[in-house]
Amino acid sequence: MNIGPVGQFPPYRARRLRQSPALRQLVSETQLSAQHLVLPLFVRRGRRSRRPIKAMPGIFQLSPDEVIREAARAHEAGVPAILLFGIPDTKDDRASGAYAANGIVQQAVRLLKRELPQLLVITDVCLCEFMSHGHCGVVRRAKSGLSILNDPTLKLLARAAASHVEAGADIVAPSDMMDGRVRAIRKQLDRLGFENIPILSYAAKFASAFYGPFREAAESAPQSGDRRSYQMDAGNAAEALREVALDIQEGADIVMVKPALAYLDIIHRVKTAFGYPTAAYAVSAEYSMIKAAAAQGWIDERAVTLESLLAMRRAGADILITYAATAVARWLAE
Ligand SMILES: [Zn+2]
Repeated sequence: MNIGPVGQFPPYRARRLRQSPALRQLVSETQLSAQHLVLPLFVRRGRRSRRPIKAMPGIFQLSPDEVIREAARAHEAGVPAILLFGIPDTKDDRASGAYAANGIVQQAVRLLKRELPQLLVITDVCLCEFMSHGHCGVVRRAKSGLSILNDPTLKLLARAAASHVEAGADIVAPSDMMDGRVRAIRKQLDRLGFENIPILSYAAKFASAFYGPFREAAESAPQSGDRRSYQMDAGNAAEALREVALDIQEGADIVMVKPALAYLDIIHRVKTAFGYPTAAYAVSAEYSMIKAAAAQGWIDERAVTLESLLAMRRAGADILITYAATAVARWLAE
């Protein structure tokens, strides 16, 4: 790279281009706009019900009618997509609620597509919320402990994804981190004539403490053991690239890095290495930490939220999944 007189003062004066808002905008390298935002929503049975999630101020478990209201609000503000998570009434060890034709997610998707046909509905595809043990896959218990069975899980994931699409989902997003799930889902969707439905894979999903508040939101904490046998080790970047390569090879259309802010290097590497549409998931604790510090008056909620999301865009994210999506869209419109 020929950098000319950079670093040679006085010919190069970096401050020349910072003198006015118009000049700064003219040379700004990264833009944040509502078109990139996705709002996660949690649905459970009921009517006119909004159960607050304590660790995530402003976020609720919503009954389907309230999901519509919340989604409509986001859509009006300019948010083009939501990501739906379901909380079933009953759980079992086959996660049958995940693929029931009339499961909570499937019901909510039908309602969303009827009431807000222009809004993109992405569904989270996983089993943990629907499993009595809270793990993302089929579990075998042995004396030596508990193991999560990879291949038997794939069939259930493919069934769940297909049932979401049959209900009207525009995009399915597998989050389980089993090996081979993208291919299993792609094959199942193609077999059913859904070859045009994209898959957004949680490709590099790390075993992260930043998911803490989400477990309350989705009621999906494992009852025993942890997720380290399927989610990634926080220190592994080369492995993240292998995970992403695998998902792309299996048919992923969009790849995700999760969490976002503590993993900007991963977002950057993934975008640089593959050039695929890349999503960043600003997870529950990223949201809650900003909310908590702002409530104390220690930080400016709006400025810190926007700066965090801008950093994800700068790192290479095309799509930003954030609990603050509606607020952000409104701020950006002001
Ligand atoms: Zn899961």
